[in-house]
Formats: sequence, C-alpha cells, structure tokens
Amino acid sequence: MHFDTLSVHAGHQDDQIGSVMSPIHVSTTFERDEAGNIGGKGYIYTRWDNPNRHALETKLALLEGGEEAFAFPSGMAAAMALMQTVLEPETHVVIPDDCYHGIGYLVKSILPKWRIAYTETDMTDAGALEKAIQKNTRLIIIETPSNPLLKITDIRRVCKIASEKGILVGCDNTWTTPLIQRPLEMGVDLVFHSSTKFFGGHSDVLGGCIIARKKNELTVKIREYQTVGGSVPSPFDCWLLNRSLSTLSLRLERQTQNASAIASFLKSRPEIEQVFYPGLAEHPNHAIAKQQMNGLFGSMISVTMRGGEKQALQFAGSMKLFKHATSLGGVESLIEHRRSAEGSTPKSPASLLRLSIGIEYIDDLIADLTLGLASVKS
Ligand code: PLP
Repeated sequence: MHFDTLSVHAGHQDDQIGSVMSPIHVSTTFERDEAGNIGGKGYIYTRWDNPNRHALETKLALLEGGEEAFAFPSGMAAAMALMQTVLEPETHVVIPDDCYHGIGYLVKSILPKWRIAYTETDMTDAGALEKAIQKNTRLIIIETPSNPLLKITDIRRVCKIASEKGILVGCDNTWTTPLIQRPLEMGVDLVFHSSTKFFGGHSDVLGGCIIARKKNELTVKIREYQTVGGSVPSPFDCWLLNRSLSTLSLRLERQTQNASAIASFLKSRPEIEQVFYPGLAEHPNHAIAKQQMNGLFGSMISVTMRGGEKQALQFAGSMKLFKHATSLGGVESLIEHRRSAEGSTPKSPASLLRLSIGIEYIDDLIADLTLGLASVKS
C-alpha cells in the first residue's frame, strides 16, 4: 500500500467493540489465558509490550521500510540504545562534524566511560571519512541534512565505504522522515528518529525510535535493551504519535512548500548573509539532495545574519508568529539562535538562526519575517 494509506491504517488492531480508532490501553498488566499461560492473550506486562506501542512500532516499520521498529521515550533514548547495543568497550564510532548537538554530547561525554572512542568528520568528504575509520570502528553515524548547516551526505557512498569494511551505518532521519528520504533502501542498517519532531508534528509529545533494515542478532539485543532496560514510552505517548503519523504527508508537504518559498524570500533580503537550504540550486550539495530526497527538500532552513549575533537575536525575538524557541518539525513555525542552546561547547556560528517552518498560510509567514527583518538595527 501507498505511504499515505499506511500512515493512516498500519498497525490498527480490531477489538471486541469495533473501535475504528484505537483506544489507549493504560493497563500495565494483562490477564493470563484459561490454561494460566503468561501472555496467552498476546500481552503480559506493559514494559514488555503494549497494544499502543505495538501499533506504533508496526506503523513505523512499514513507513520506514524496515523489518522491525522499536519505540523509545525520546530521540536521545533511541540514540543511546543504538550506541549501547552496537558498540562494545574498546570500539570506535565516527560521527558527523555537524549534527544534532545532543548526539555529539552523548558520544563525547557518556560513551568514553565505557571506553568507546569517537572521531568527528565531514561526512560530505569521502576521503575524510576513510581517514577517520579505524581498525576498531564498528559504527558510522550520519545525519543528512546536517544540523544546523544543512550539509548533504551522500548516503549510498557512505554505505559503500562502510560495508566494504564491515561497519554498520546508523542514520538520524529526523529532519526528512521516510516521506522524503529512505535511508534503509540506500544501504543504511539502522535509522533513528526524534519522534518529538515531524512524527509528533505538534510539539506536544516526546519520543524516539529505531527502525532496522533486517531482523537479526542485533535487533534481538535492541529489543532486550528496550524491555529489560525499561526504555519504553507510555501508552498515551504511543497513541499520540500513532495519531500524528496519520497526517505526516499532509503536514510535511505543506511545510516543505512553505520552506521553499521562504528560502527564496530570505535569499533576497539584504540583512541575510547566507541561506542554507538544500532546495536552492546554489546549495553545494543540491545535486545529491535532488537524488536522495525524493524531490522535496524538507522544512528546515538556516541563515546567517550580516549584522552578527546581535542582529540575529533581535530578529529572532521580534516576530509574532515565529516564536524564538528550540525544537522543530511542529505545525507552528519556530526560529532559534542555535549557539545559545548548545551549552558550554557551542559549535554553531554566532550569527546563525535556524528556522523550522510550519503549516501556516505562506503570506502570513512572509509578512511576519518582513516585520522581523524591518526591526533589525545595525
Ligand atoms: N536528533 C535530532 C536531529 C534532533 O533534532 C533531536 C532533538 O532536538 C534529537 C535527535 C534528540 O531527540 P529528543 O529531543 O526527542 O530526545
């Protein structure tokens, strides 16, 4: 079935009263069957499995095109599960030099306690990646478009380099979702997401997931990590995510359309120094983006301001519709000065702002941005 049909129907479980929409199963424990068998009716205890989580994982696997999906309580919990199941002590992981700040934080601050080493590299440069790989490298993490500079990694090329060396590739597909980009079909082993973003789509639920291309020994370990380690989302959060996924295409198509118009608008403004958006013909990786992003370029844009950090902060704080707040992927438009959200080890340029474009009417968004830019003083 088509992606849009699956996003509405996949995972639905019929019940005894004919519910068209799934109820929320809040029970933490489930009755044994008549013979006293544990799990005889399908479920045992909500940490092991729950109908809402099962429905969500079924839908996620089908949408992303993988054999098995795992839901977690946040994107970081999913990333942690991936790292801790793939990597052993004395191994090494390669991460992008531009990626979500929290992933870098996890790899640099938490993994070294388990004697897991890392190298950061520019994933758009195959030579640099080859150099970063070591004898004990077990995992390469990619995020494309990268965060916040929107660099595009050639997914097939990374997978070719990795598979020749027996290294697994994990791809953070949060910014594009499988509607726009399908990493598992390009050779990636494990996709992960912050479901908090486009999957949730309304900035009101925290979640994460991993989707595996193949069921194998590793997926057995991930399931064990999730259930024995207790890294499970609540039934309500699973239900909310399941409901939100039904409208993913509608939201993301409108968001992408709006973003494309806004990128062109921002490019024309004298206050803006540079616009980072892979849909622009002048983007250095536009050709690869066109090949691997399904003709849509996502709804995330970054810009640098000619007037530096001061003007960036003035612009971000001066609009009515665009709220100055962290996060992304919701129906509402947001703008953020990334550097001030990156703690004690900031990497983003001081003049950079990241925009997450929502589903509002485009003329209203452009009017709001025009108002914001007009208020910027040198
Ligand atoms: N990956 C990306 C690309 C993100 O933007 C985020 C959060 O901002 C995460 C992972 C972590 O997700 P969460 O905040 O749901 O833990």
